[in-house]
Amino acid sequence: MSRTGPWHTPLDGIYHDNSDCGTGRGLKQRIEGSGGKRLCAECGKLDRAEESLHRVQWWDGRRAIGQ
Ligand SMILES: [Zn+2]
Repeated sequence: MSRTGPWHTPLDGIYHDNSDCGTGRGLKQRIEGSGGKRLCAECGKLDRAEESLHRVQWWDGRRAIGQ
């Protein structure tokens, strides 16, 4: 999973920013940037999952070095 720079397609009212989003990956026409649109729900979910994963890894790292 990876969060990336935003992209959108002219036909949708949403933008994507996660390379694991099935909808975003399937777009035929990709334009760089958010286009002032709102974030895709699937990308939002993936981004949140990614953030919590990073938090867990950070805590595990702290535990590993005994702090
Ligand atoms: Zn998306």
